[in-house]
Amino acid sequence: MSGIFDALGEPVAQRVTGGLATIGQVLKSQAWKGAGPAGVTPTQAQALRVLRERPGTGLGALAGLLGVSAPTASTAVNTLVTKGLVVKEPGPDRRSITLRLTAAGEEVADRAAEWPAVLVRAVDALDPAEQTALLRSLVTLVRALQEAGEISPQRMCVTCRHFRPHVHADPRNPHHCAFVDEPFGDRHLRLDCAEQEEAAPEDRRAAWERFTSPDTAPR
Ligand code: SF4
Repeated sequence: MSGIFDALGEPVAQRVTGGLATIGQVLKSQAWKGAGPAGVTPTQAQALRVLRERPGTGLGALAGLLGVSAPTASTAVNTLVTKGLVVKEPGPDRRSITLRLTAAGEEVADRAAEWPAVLVRAVDALDPAEQTALLRSLVTLVRALQEAGEISPQRMCVTCRHFRPHVHADPRNPHHCAFVDEPFGDRHLRLDCAEQEEAAPEDRRAAWERFTSPDTAPR
């Protein structure tokens, strides 16, 4: 029992959300520090980072990955094109275009990629078990946002058709990646894997149930 704290009645979810919002502010201010000298805004810097990881992305897909509207993405891309950091190329069909970084864009993307270092240092202060628990929680949150249609599909293990949760007896490496045919553990869960292929909805659901089943949850 903790009368005073229980009486406050503030849901835990509200405080967690507040903490996430604080981290979001840190990321935003760091993004300005990192991207500002290169003469690009945080949204433009984020677009460069996405295009570095996914060359050939279309405008609509880029907007989804950035979590912004199509006009906002279009404005950011047009500015990057004017700055000589991005080029537009014809897409697979006549009406679509794909986007690629120029050599100058690659350089700015490299610099822009350095800004989360301050957060990496903070996460490094957690012990390995805490880092793994945090990673698992983040995977859960990102998946929930994706399933709710709030963000575009992310290239995560837990939604990948190659993901086989809890198929090995080894508690440190209970999962299996059928793509590389190797066991792995929660600490290896990926949020952005280039080899990820989205599983069918019913397979995603079944994998998630197995991944989060109380019988298989980490102890
Ligand atoms: S291919 Fe990538 S995303 Fe899919 S299970 Fe393997 S490591 Fe995870």
